[in-house]
Amino acid sequence: MADTMQAAVWYGKKDIRIETVPVPPPPKPGWVQIKVDWCGICGSDLHEYLAGPIFIPMEPHPLTGCHGKVILGHEFSGVVVATGDGVNNVKVGDKVAPDACQHCGECQPCREGRYNVCEKLAFTGLMTDGAFARLVNVPSELCVIVPPGVSQEDAAVMEPLATGFKAVRMAGSILGLNIVILGAGTIGLGTLMAAKAAGAGQLIVVEQAAARIEKAKAAGADVIINSKEQDPIAVVKELTGGHGADVSFECIGNKLTGPLAVDVIRNTGTAIIVGIFEEPSPFNFFSLSGTDKRVYGSLAYTVEDFKGLAALMAKGAISAAPLITGKIELKDLVEKGFLELINNKDQNIKILVRP
Ligand SMILES: [Zn+2]
Ligand SMILES: [Zn+2]
Repeated sequence: MADTMQAAVWYGKKDIRIETVPVPPPPKPGWVQIKVDWCGICGSDLHEYLAGPIFIPMEPHPLTGCHGKVILGHEFSGVVVATGDGVNNVKVGDKVAPDACQHCGECQPCREGRYNVCEKLAFTGLMTDGAFARLVNVPSELCVIVPPGVSQEDAAVMEPLATGFKAVRMAGSILGLNIVILGAGTIGLGTLMAAKAAGAGQLIVVEQAAARIEKAKAAGADVIINSKEQDPIAVVKELTGGHGADVSFECIGNKLTGPLAVDVIRNTGTAIIVGIFEEPSPFNFFSLSGTDKRVYGSLAYTVEDFKGLAALMAKGAISAAPLITGKIELKDLVEKGFLELINNKDQNIKILVRP
C-alpha cells in the first residue's frame, strides 16, 4: 500500500471523510512534494464544514480545475521529499512552511507582486488538494525554509501569523502609534504580535471571550477592552487624549465590528479590514468623507511576508507556541478538531493535526 495515504476529504456540508486516497503524482516542473509534519485547522475549514461550499469550487477552478471535493488543510509545515525540474530555492530534506496562495502570475495584481489577490487565486486546501494528508504538492516558489530554532509545530502556524504580519505591513510605519486590534483569535493575536514587533506605542485589544483576553495579555496587549462591559469607542478616546487611535485592525469579520474599526480611529487615521465577513454592515460613508479617514482591505500575504515573519520568529520577536491549544491525529480530525473548535470556541485558538 505504498502508493496510498490517509487524507481528510471534504465532500459537502457536515461531510468530511478520513479516507484512503492515491498519493500525489511526482511534482511538476517548478513544484515540490512535501511530507506534512503538522497542519492547523483554520476558521475557513470550519466554515466549509458547517456551511460549505464557501471557497471550495463547485465548477472547475480556473487555475487548478479542482471542483466538488478537495483534501482540506492549508496551514502546514513539512519536509521536501521530491522536487520537480527547475526547482532551486529548496532541496530534498529542507524543512519548509508554504504560503497557500497559488496564483496565475499573469493578471495585474500578480504582476504588481500582490498575488495574494490574484484574479485566479487558488488557495491550497480549498481550491486544490491540501495538507490534511501525508503528502502534498505545491509550487516551490511558495516555500519558505523554516529557520533554525523554530519548531515544525510553530512553523505550521506561520500561515495564519503571516496574515497579521501582512496587515501590519499595509499600515506603513506604526512606530510609537496608538493601535486598536478588534478580536484576539488567531489573526488578531498574530496582528498584535506583529504590531508589537513593529514598534507600536499603545496596543489596545477589544475582545469578549475570557480565554482570548488572557491570550491577548500574554501576547503583549497594553489595554484590553471587554466590549461586553465597556463601550470601546469611549474607552479608546479616553486612552488617546480624546482623539481616537491612529490605526485599527478589524480581525473579527462581524457586521458591527467593521464600522467600529472606523469609529475608533482619529480623523486622518487608518482602518485595516482583515476579517472575513458573512453579512453586510450598515455604514454611513460620511464617517469617511467627513474625516479624511482611510480604510484598506487586507487578504492573506505573499511569500515575502513569510520570509519577514520567519526572521522575527527566529529571534523570538514573534512566538507561535502560545497560540497552539491542541494537537491531534488525522483520524480524530472531526471529533477532536472540528467539533472541539465549534463547541469550545472560547477555549481554543489553534489545533494542529499530525497526518
Ligand atoms: Zn486559514
Ligand atoms: Zn494572477
